[in-house]
This record gives sequence, C-alpha cells and structure tokens, in this order.
Amino acid sequence: MTDFVFPPSEVTSLAVAGSDLRFPVHHVYCVGRNYAAHAREMGKDPDREPPFFFSKPADAVVPRGVVPYPPATADLHHEIELVVALGEGGRDIPENRALNHVYGYAVGIDLTRRDLQGEAKKLGRPWDTGKGFEASAPCTPIHPVAETGHPESGRIWLEVGGAQRQDGDLAEMIWTVPEMISLLSGLFLLKPGDLIFTGTPAGVAALQRGDRVSGGVEGLDQIEITIA
Ligand code: MN
Repeated sequence: MTDFVFPPSEVTSLAVAGSDLRFPVHHVYCVGRNYAAHAREMGKDPDREPPFFFSKPADAVVPRGVVPYPPATADLHHEIELVVALGEGGRDIPENRALNHVYGYAVGIDLTRRDLQGEAKKLGRPWDTGKGFEASAPCTPIHPVAETGHPESGRIWLEVGGAQRQDGDLAEMIWTVPEMISLLSGLFLLKPGDLIFTGTPAGVAALQRGDRVSGGVEGLDQIEITIA
C-alpha cells in the first residue's frame, strides 16, 4: 500500500444516464470560439483562426444544482456547450477514427470570469484565472453513444430566469467533433475520461447571484443551475 503524505483527492466523476455507473473525469479540454457568431461577438474574424484549446482542472466539473458565485470577478459569464466524453484515449487519432473514441455526450456550462479573461488577453497572459476556477464546469450526466448516437445538429440554447440568452445549432460549429478530437490528439496524449467542451454559440452575458440558469441541447439533455 502506498503511503501518501495526506489522503489523495477523490476522483471527480459524473453520473452515466440510465445506469448506476459513474464516468471518471480525467482532464477537461475546452475549445475557443467554435461558433462564428460567438467569435464575432468576441471581436474576432471566425474565418481566419485555427481552433485553440484551453483547460480546466478535472475537479472544476460539478453536477447540476447550486453553483457558487466565484470570488474576484464582477462579470461571470455563461457559455452553454456540447460536451464530448472520451472512453478511449490515444495520440494522433485520424478524423475518420475519432468518433470510435467517444463514450458519450453531455451538456455543460463553461462558466467564465470574463473580466479576468479579458485582462489576461490584453496582457498576453494565460486564461487560467478566467476559466479554471472551482465549479466552473457544471455538467449533466453523460449519455452513452448507444443512446444518443453522435449529434451533429440540434438546437443549443440557454435561458436565465426564463429569458432567452443563447440560441444556436450544433451544425454551426466551425470545427466538428472528429476534427477537434483529431487536432487535440496531435497536441496531447488523450486519455479515457477526458471531456471536451466544444464551444458556445452567441449570446454570452453576465450572471448575478440568485440567477436560475437553464439550457440544453435538443435530443440530449438539459442543465439547470442556480448561482448562489
Ligand atoms: Mn467556452
């Protein structure tokens, strides 16, 4: 038995829909600006930029429910996203094999301290303070591919207090799921348990304490969170 100097952290996991099994989360990759209209609202030309990636710690993933308003921000934004859950890892995965590595799909919210992210962009600094804080990745249970297939289109939306904020379609993604897996696997050794947050449609905006946020992907699931 290994003697750790203190007990290691518990493995972060998500429920698997329709099952008592849990999906153990290994690493959270996120894709930036993957919907043209959102790229434009962030002041970028969507046609010119190759995809780029950033990360959140695995334990930033939390289930639906009450999410704390994080410290050190006055501009907490919602980003509703399709989440890809990998059941198989690999390196240099070709696009035409990439979907074989997917265990399932979920709906997540990439919570963002936009003020800290904006400052980091301006100064050419990493995005960790804007993106990688505690509970910054609320996520639904994982839906196995056997149940959902591989969603390529369908409405993706988010409401705050019943008022629509984000409304797009998965078909508007600039980089497809196989392209994202293939590109990521050229940069990193992917592992089972990795999640990929695939980017958000236009309409990102600020949340306040007490807001009730609901969103979803047509044919997949819905997520509801309350900002404490
Ligand atoms: Mn995002």
